[in-house]
Amino acid sequence: MSFDSVVILDWSAASAPTPARDSADAIWIGEARGGAAESTYLRTRAAAEDWLGARIARARADGERLLIGADFAFGFPAGFAAGLTGRAEALAVWEWLAGALSDGPDNRNDRFAVAARMNRAFPGLGPFWFNPGSEIPDLPRKGRARHGYGPLDDMRRADRQARGAQSVFRLGGAGAVGSQVLTGLPVLWRLRAQGGVAVWPFEPLDEVPVVLAEVFPSLLAAEVAALIPEGSRRNDWPVKDAVQVRLLALALQRLADAGALGPLLAPDAPDAILREEGWILGVGGEEALRGAAAAVGDAALPPHPEAAAPLTPPRLRDDCFAMPQGVGWVPVDDALARLRAALHPVTGVETVATADAAGRILAAPCTARRANPPVANAAVDGYGFAHDATGAGVQRLPLHPGRAAAGQPHPGAVPAGVALRILTGAPLPAGVDTVVLEEDTATDGAIVAFDGPVRRGANARRAGEDVDAGAEILRAGHRLRAPDLALLTALGVGQVDVHRPLRVAVLSTGDELRADPGADIAAHEIFDANRPMLRALVAGWGYTPVDLGAAPDNAEAVAACLDQGARQADAILTSGGASAGDEDHVSQLLRARGRLSSWRIALKPGRPLALAQWYGVPVFGLPGNPVAAMVCALIFARPALSVLAGAGWCAPQGMTVPAAFAKSKKPGRREYLRARLDAEGRAEVFASEGSGRISGLVWAEGLVELGDGAAEIAPGTPVRFIPYSAFGV
Ligand code: AMP
Ligand code: MG
Repeated sequence: MSFDSVVILDWSAASAPTPARDSADAIWIGEARGGAAESTYLRTRAAAEDWLGARIARARADGERLLIGADFAFGFPAGFAAGLTGRAEALAVWEWLAGALSDGPDNRNDRFAVAARMNRAFPGLGPFWFNPGSEIPDLPRKGRARHGYGPLDDMRRADRQARGAQSVFRLGGAGAVGSQVLTGLPVLWRLRAQGGVAVWPFEPLDEVPVVLAEVFPSLLAAEVAALIPEGSRRNDWPVKDAVQVRLLALALQRLADAGALGPLLAPDAPDAILREEGWILGVGGEEALRGAAAAVGDAALPPHPEAAAPLTPPRLRDDCFAMPQGVGWVPVDDALARLRAALHPVTGVETVATADAAGRILAAPCTARRANPPVANAAVDGYGFAHDATGAGVQRLPLHPGRAAAGQPHPGAVPAGVALRILTGAPLPAGVDTVVLEEDTATDGAIVAFDGPVRRGANARRAGEDVDAGAEILRAGHRLRAPDLALLTALGVGQVDVHRPLRVAVLSTGDELRADPGADIAAHEIFDANRPMLRALVAGWGYTPVDLGAAPDNAEAVAACLDQGARQADAILTSGGASAGDEDHVSQLLRARGRLSSWRIALKPGRPLALAQWYGVPVFGLPGNPVAAMVCALIFARPALSVLAGAGWCAPQGMTVPAAFAKSKKPGRREYLRARLDAEGRAEVFASEGSGRISGLVWAEGLVELGDGAAEIAPGTPVRFIPYSAFGV
């Protein structure tokens, strides 16, 4: 059993995000490939799930074999699975837990209630226990208080053999693992559902790219300790958790490379036990594992922070939207440049059939697998011959028997001085390099006559004259359009690696909003116009909209919606509540919990744009007024989402046209006016600049952009008009 890479996951059941800086007792992922290791620190389980999901997708796209080891029990002691689910299989418990546990993007979860619920599936009291500080019915505080829940052992067979392992039923306290199991298995269950993943020792491992296995990093406790310099402190370099995941990944990689993983994957235990309890990869093969770890050496140490090269993080940096202190109004172009620098693609990669790839964004360049045309062929219906045997004046060539047609190549060579009937698309047979158009010939069935001289190579297409085999035809980041599918298919590219579609959540805020435009509503209420508009923009840009509804002006309600958005989407667009007023709960909330940077952009229409992150997911806080919301979405959200989606930055293509209006513009702010072209191709603008006038957005067919400085515009003055279509509207 061989693997290209080994990933080791050190899980955490923390109930809040772990500290921003690298810390112990948090989620760590180590990866070994080709004898080198990398480690990643993640603050939440949701972030880890995203990381792993993207990693699995990449393994599948690259045809890579990947072993993922996770450091929590994959099963419970024999009898438990059947008692809980009726099926004596560990995977039945995974499925049950995935349906039962709720675990937020901020690590808040209900694992103790879920444990109590499992206890209720058994008679008596137990088997789970722990004292979480508050009283939870059916969850005994002490192990001794348990009774009568059946003939269940506290330990699995593998736990008894692994020195230092604890009972999976204990949910907390020094070294306890129970909570990690309850929070970890639902994540693994969802990753497995992604496809291409098999779980050891429950499922056959052949023919899947990714294998999940339980590991126990403490098997290498002595080897880890030997690597950590004396006197180094808990959260200082090197963090023990990082060393541990790197060392175990490297050791398993070495064993796999040496062909020595087989015995570890075939533990000496009855099949029924393996199916229900699982096993720890390495238990029973400790000597081999420790030998491999001892040979790894310093490669297991993470780079010293002073020497470390920055790795591309899977999520955005926490402070990526921070504006330097003391900045007042930011010009639009500066804001755009900052946004561009702060963002990077956040979507994983998948492989899809070219025929299904319209609208998708290439994650890798595409190369021609064959030439177009693959062989020289005829461009017209006519007669083919060797040019050398012809000259000036009337030519009379005897006809060669047979013919050549598309899909029906002529088998033999055509002698010099002889012509062959040939149809469009037919490969040129040996001896033919030139074709004369049928309409320019006369024939009696034995001879074909035409006027010479004929140009050498006339009406013939060279092999590869369009594209050579091996040529790079499309770059990574390109969004596939209909003609791209034709070219890719012609060149034999049947499948492409593309980014997973970006998911963009849309949330409206405001006590006054009502969603259903058919309903009778009070005079002080208004219909939520922004949400359908923003959802339609998102869909039109090729992304997947996620509807978060409308939240009242109440921080908890908005937070709950943002939580959902962070779970279900890669970016969130909110509208309303984005300035600094009393009712502006979105700004307040994002300032308190979402690392808000309020950007005071010198732009009309548009109040400050709020940029923030909700558990690593970028939030674009658009103004509430529909006109300003749309303009800010077109100017800021569109290029930003394009970067997140993998297509790179995009600027709309405008055109310079004469104005059909007059306006005296003050300096200091860039302005966007609702505009359209009149019959003479001049830009006329909507009568009112009021940002509540939604009808002006509809009257318009684009925007006129007026630069940051002062301007005196009279009819005929050149102005920049950007049609809606250039914004993908
Ligand atoms: P705000 O930014 O929340 O102060 O909202 C500014 C203005 O936009 C107010 O008049 C709101 O009623 C209006 N508004 C906010 N959200 C929406 C929406 N989703 N649809 C229509 N109007 C809205
Ligand atoms: Mg509001």
